[in-house]
Amino acid sequence: MSLVVKSELCPQCHKEVIKPEVIDENSTWPFCSEKCRDADLFGWLSEEYNISRELNEEEVDEWARKKFGKVNPYDPNAF
Ligand SMILES: [Zn+2]
Repeated sequence: MSLVVKSELCPQCHKEVIKPEVIDENSTWPFCSEKCRDADLFGWLSEEYNISRELNEEEVDEWARKKFGKVNPYDPNAF
């Protein structure tokens, strides 16, 4: 039996991230930090909508629905 440590590279900064045992809604997985998670999310947002203003919650939900078919873009099951 071998011990497998699950890790992935942060999609934003490519730093190695150890997969947490429990992924809850506060988890930044698969990103290494909140900063990278948000940078990635807003990178997509501004790319798709070509916006420079901040989106309100409804707009983010609408975008997430289209992107993931889910309401919460931070839902760990979306990844
Ligand atoms: Zn990162």
